[in-house]
Amino acid sequence: MNLGKSACRHFVPYSVGIAPGCPGGGKEHVNDVPLFGTNDAPEAVAELGPTGRPMPFLPEPTPPREGPKKALVIAMCNQKGGVGKTTTTINLGAALAETGRRVLLVDFDPQGSLSVGLGVNPHTLDKSIYNVLLGRNVAASEVILPTRTAGLDLLPANIDLSAAEVQLVSEVAREQTLRRVLRQVLGDYDVVLIDCAPSLGLLTVNALTAADRVIMPLELEFFALRGIALLTDTIDKVRERLNPDLEVLGILGTMYDSRTIHSREVLERVVEAFGEQIFHTVIRRTIKFPETTVAGEPITSYATNSPGATAYRQLAREVLLRCPGA
Ligand code: ADP
Ligand code: MG
Repeated sequence: MNLGKSACRHFVPYSVGIAPGCPGGGKEHVNDVPLFGTNDAPEAVAELGPTGRPMPFLPEPTPPREGPKKALVIAMCNQKGGVGKTTTTINLGAALAETGRRVLLVDFDPQGSLSVGLGVNPHTLDKSIYNVLLGRNVAASEVILPTRTAGLDLLPANIDLSAAEVQLVSEVAREQTLRRVLRQVLGDYDVVLIDCAPSLGLLTVNALTAADRVIMPLELEFFALRGIALLTDTIDKVRERLNPDLEVLGILGTMYDSRTIHSREVLERVVEAFGEQIFHTVIRRTIKFPETTVAGEPITSYATNSPGATAYRQLAREVLLRCPGA
C-alpha cells in the first residue's frame, strides 16, 4: 500500500480554522496541516495529516484528575543518538506541564543533555541520579530540582551515571533499580518521562523496566528504520522477563523536512511499516530546537508561538488521548 500516493487523491487544501483558545496562542497549523482534525459532517472529506492519515480530533486536555496521584512513566527510547529523544523529553514534558499536570523529567543519559537543556550544569551537581541509584541513603527527593517551567521537575544526571552501568551489574535485581527509585516519587507526579541514553545497555533496560509506556523518536532520514528491530526486540524481552505491562505508546517522526522528497518518502515508508503506531504529530526540522538548548529552556517558553512549540503541544494532546488516565 502506498499511503502517500493514494492519499493524495483525497487531498484537500488545509484552510480551515481551529477551535480558539488553545495554548498555541492561536497558532492554527503545524507541519502545514491543521492542529486539529474536524468533526465536520460525515460527507466532508477527512483532512489528512503529514503522515497521510486523516487527522483525529484532539480535544483540549482536561486538567489532571484530583485525588492521590500515581504517575504514568514513559521512556523515550532509541539506541541511535541525535534522533530527538532529549528534545522530545523536554518539550513534551513542558507541554504536559502546561495542561496543569505535574511532570518529572528523569535524565538517564550520562551525557546529561537533558539537564543542560533545562539550564542545569551537570558538572556542578552535588548529587545526581547516580547517588540515588547506588547510594543507599540518598532519596530521589533530595536530588530532584525544580525547573523554570511551572510544574516541571528534573532528576538530573552527569557523567557519574556511566559508572552506574558497571556497578549495577553486581547488584541484586539490577534491572529494577530505577523502578525502585521512581516508586518513591510516583505519588507526586502525573507523568514521569525518562530520557534514555543512546544504547541498549543496562541503563536502558532499567528505564524500560521502570516504564509503563515507550515512545520511540525516529529521525526521518534514510537509515531511520535501522536498529528499530533491535529496539523492538529489547522491548519484547523486557516485557516477557521483567515488565509485563510495558507497551509502545507510539513512534514519533522527528527532523521532518516537508520540502524534500526524501523526507516525505521516508515518512511514507515509516507509516507503511508501523501504521497506527506513528503519532499523527510529526516534528519538523528547525534551528529553533538547537537554540533552545543554548537558552536552557523548553521551546514552549523560548518561542511559545512557534510551529515547534505548537507541534509539541499537539503531541501532548495525542499522548493524553492514548493514555486517558494520565
Ligand atoms: P538524542 O537525545 O536522541 O540524542 P537530541 O534531542 O539531543 O537527540 O537532538 C540532537 C540534536 O538535534 C540537538 O542538537 C537538538 O537540538 C537537535 N534537534 C532535535 N530535534 C530537532 C528538530 N526537530 N529540528 C532541528 N534540530 C533538532
Ligand atoms: Mg539525548
